[in-house]
Amino acid sequence: MVCAYPITAIEWMGDSETTEGIAAHSMDDTTFQDLGLSDEILRAIGDAGYDTPTPIQAQAIPYVLMNRDIMGCAQTGTGKTASFTLPMIDILAQGRARARMPRSLILEPTRELAAQVAEQFDIYGKHQNLSKALLIGGVSFEDQDRLLDRGVDVLIATPGRLLDHFERGRVLLSDVKLLVIDEADRMLDMGFIPDVEKIVSLMPKIRQTLMFSATMPPVMRRLADQFLMNPKEITVSPPASTAETVSQSLVVVGHREKRSALRALLRSEDVRNALIFCNRKRDVSVVQNSLKRHGFEAGSLHGDMDQFQRTDTLEAFKNGDIKLLVCSDVAARGLDIEAMSHVFNFDVPINADDYVHRIGRTGRAGRSGRAITLAAPDEKRYLDTIVGLTGVEIPRLELDEVESTDFEEEDDKPRGRRGRSGSRSKKPSDNAKQEAAKSDDDGSVRNGKSRNSKRKKARENVRDDDGPDETPVGLGDHVPAFLLRAPK
Ligand code: AMP
Repeated sequence: MVCAYPITAIEWMGDSETTEGIAAHSMDDTTFQDLGLSDEILRAIGDAGYDTPTPIQAQAIPYVLMNRDIMGCAQTGTGKTASFTLPMIDILAQGRARARMPRSLILEPTRELAAQVAEQFDIYGKHQNLSKALLIGGVSFEDQDRLLDRGVDVLIATPGRLLDHFERGRVLLSDVKLLVIDEADRMLDMGFIPDVEKIVSLMPKIRQTLMFSATMPPVMRRLADQFLMNPKEITVSPPASTAETVSQSLVVVGHREKRSALRALLRSEDVRNALIFCNRKRDVSVVQNSLKRHGFEAGSLHGDMDQFQRTDTLEAFKNGDIKLLVCSDVAARGLDIEAMSHVFNFDVPINADDYVHRIGRTGRAGRSGRAITLAAPDEKRYLDTIVGLTGVEIPRLELDEVESTDFEEEDDKPRGRRGRSGSRSKKPSDNAKQEAAKSDDDGSVRNGKSRNSKRKKARENVRDDDGPDETPVGLGDHVPAFLLRAPK
């Protein structure tokens, strides 16, 4: 298998240390044999069918083996998981685990990501005799306790579930010599950083820490300063770049037309399999039910499902039993599904970074992919932020069957219900952001209480599956109660 990643490796600025030894190979001709990995790992890599290290692997692996801290800026799909698991397995091959005292810890923001890392650990570690435990919500504590009691070399966990185990006295972190904080930006979005801080405070100060983030806003720098010591900084794509292999389109329609627009797209595009992203958890089932009613085989993925349902749905999707998966950002984060043909954004993501993550689910490993966004006029401001971030204008697509609208039309409207939206634009966006962040997780988002829950309930009651597509827009928190009541 040839690795055809569209991403070029760039060294982070500000790292004073020379990278000669590694850079000299330049990414193109570096082989796995050059990286200092053991024969056992090289055999496992060969079994996995990998020919060439990806840029993040070529750059990070030698430094991890030197026990350096790493700050890696890389998206999923770049091979970043192997960039830390491969050298970790070699580091852990020496030494033995003690009961309830894991030797290394990988923190992941979601259950799916944690499960995927655990799978990769098995693939790459198949010729070494290392033990691991996966601590995620939605799975019984007893099985996890049994593994911990036996002693594990690597613990792969979501922060909430790990702290639950710690508080029950089932795990001690004082022997952790190697820590990985994966998807740190997503941890931040989901309000997990206080949990991560608590977890880090339970570990020895002298340890090796590897932190990965898809984006590198200033706040991430501060976190890096807090958790890492003199890290080697590596990035494999400029933050928030969109893959060149993804062809993007934009359909501008009213909220009410979005479902018919989606159906028209599903019929006209050559869709092999697709993720359909909604901003809010409750819309996930609305869209899924609507698709099913119109004869599309669609599954859904959101944070309210238990682990078994999620696993079953994912299996069905991966096997091709269902072609369409409607999902929220957090539930779908990092899903590694090969050769996804399409990503549809049923809503424009509120957070511009999420756009990059969403469309990154397709066009992976050099394959081409399609990303189509349905945008209503009042979502223009989110779109502008996305274009500002990626620097790429998204071309418009007109659909024959569905009447498209225009962004300007919104501004032409009389200053009635909608007209006030401009002055309140910040608030609804913040609320929606919080809601999105809280809506899915490993079952233990700790920050933020469910404010507005009554209002949310009222809004949900308005919507039956065939009902109006959107709640009143532009009114921020101040939606009058009569607008939220279902019409008789
Ligand atoms: P990740 O970015 O860790 O989510 O990895 C994305 C996908 O790339 C996974 O399915 C890996 O199995 C695959 N992968 C990782 N490293 C390589 C490599 N060197 N060559 C080919 N595929 C790889």
